[in-house]
Amino acid sequence: MTRIVSSRKHAGPEAKDYGSFSFWLETAGEDLTPRPSLPGPTEADVAILGAGFTGLWTAYYLLRQDPSLHVVVLESEIAGFGASGRNGAWCNSAFPVTPGELVRRFGKEATKALLLEMRGAVDEIGKVAETEGIDAQYFRGGQLRVARGSAQLPAIEDAYKAAQTLGMEEDLHLLDAQETAERVRITGAEGSLFNPHCATIHPARLARGLARAVERLGGEIFEQTSVTDYEGGANPRFVTDAGEVRASAVVLAGEAYLARLRKLRRQVLPIYSLIVLTEPLSEAQWAQIGWEGHECVASNRYTVDYLSRTADGRILFGGRGAPYHYGSRIEDEYDLHHSTHEMLRNAAREWFPALEGARFTHAWGGPLAMPRDWMPTMSYDPAQGVATARGYTGQGVATANLSGQTLADLILGRDTAAASLPTVNHEPRSWEPEPLRWLGARYVQRGLAKVDDHAEQTGEPPSGKTLAERLGSH
Ligand SMILES: Cc1cc2nc3c(=O)[nH]c(=O)nc-3n(C[C@H](O)[C@H](O)[C@H](O)COP(=O)(O)OP(=O)(O)OC[C@H]3O[C@@H](n4cnc5c(N)ncnc54)[C@H](O)[C@@H]3O)c2cc1C
Repeated sequence: MTRIVSSRKHAGPEAKDYGSFSFWLETAGEDLTPRPSLPGPTEADVAILGAGFTGLWTAYYLLRQDPSLHVVVLESEIAGFGASGRNGAWCNSAFPVTPGELVRRFGKEATKALLLEMRGAVDEIGKVAETEGIDAQYFRGGQLRVARGSAQLPAIEDAYKAAQTLGMEEDLHLLDAQETAERVRITGAEGSLFNPHCATIHPARLARGLARAVERLGGEIFEQTSVTDYEGGANPRFVTDAGEVRASAVVLAGEAYLARLRKLRRQVLPIYSLIVLTEPLSEAQWAQIGWEGHECVASNRYTVDYLSRTADGRILFGGRGAPYHYGSRIEDEYDLHHSTHEMLRNAAREWFPALEGARFTHAWGGPLAMPRDWMPTMSYDPAQGVATARGYTGQGVATANLSGQTLADLILGRDTAAASLPTVNHEPRSWEPEPLRWLGARYVQRGLAKVDDHAEQTGEPPSGKTLAERLGSH
């Protein structure tokens, strides 16, 4: 019988049952016993904080381009412990900032270049999984952005128009209610936008397989090794309890967890995203639902929902809504938030009446990182020897691949297309100090939920003009 992740207990750092942190880690297909930790002070060419997608892709591309490099990855838990081993399985070309907002900030040409690189990253992940023999369950089913209720129709039409403005609409399709139901039968669906540039993956298998690929290329990964501080300048280094790791370049790839480092406390806001998962559904249930194409599915709520169909025939239903924690705190116990998980289970039953009586076997969650302007950063300061990529706002699977390619190019001084994207050396302003940060985050979270509820009750699209909308969506 499948374990219910929400019953997990953590007895202490050494006793963590890593398989209990997500269905993906549980089914990673391997023993999650941690690799050895850092034995003592070390020197390397490049040292990387974090063995999630960002850190591992960066190590991978550095070593592929220069196999002579000594690359060391320091991970406070195990590879894939963070969002990379817990996410909604979407490997999606969409970028956290909307195309319209990107054009406003950076112009059409830079926006198109960025969005084409994102499409390229979706392809690249599938290719690397294949060449490296990673059983990542990569499946290119595309994405369906569903208008649930007429209030959501303008959002998908606007998204199509934004793609048209950039000349990128060619393979996007606006589907009516009937065409949507031919793909997947969702209550209240009045239309959808199909985008083929999206795949599903098994996130933990991808992260763990990438870690092994990095090791095959000669990289070293030390697990259960926390970086407590870092210094740039003449002697870039990471500080750990086992001693310092000195390197020509240090890479900060800890996403939401970077808020735990004193120097980065206000750079990203950790927001929890939560997921529930059904048992494998019967053929009769799938016959009612359809979904043979295994598309990634979402509606257009500000409060965000994301769905995928797993390789073993379950429905994954994820969403935001768990409260921000004062002081940007991140704790394992925050992964489980009863009322949010219950809300997600109810929403799943509402979307798919065929789930009546179906068991939900897993519930988990994790923190993602919001920068102050929603715009991810991929940067390297050669004078300081400090690189970072972060702030994916919950859309980091494909973006982290692009980050890895970009950081490798920047560190190696290669003048490539990736190295001149608008994400490069982007510096968002810091979040407000507490208690303003807490007040603002909670206000926006509550405000956006109200806007969504109002749109659903009245059938009127959100105005886009409320304070919460202006502060909380891009
Ligand atoms: C529940 C959830 C669902 C999501 N769904 C999707 C989705 O469907 N599609 C999508 O594109 N994105 C999704 N995201 C976001 C996406 O998973 C992340 O953006 C992406 O995985 C970030 O990768 P990362 O390597 O930058 O960070 P992480 O995967 O969080 O990795 C950071 C790593 O750094 C380690 N670390 C942190 N601090 C230290 C330190 N001081 N010393 C040493 N190690 C440290 C952590 O233990 C962790 O392993 C989701 C996120 C969550 C939480």
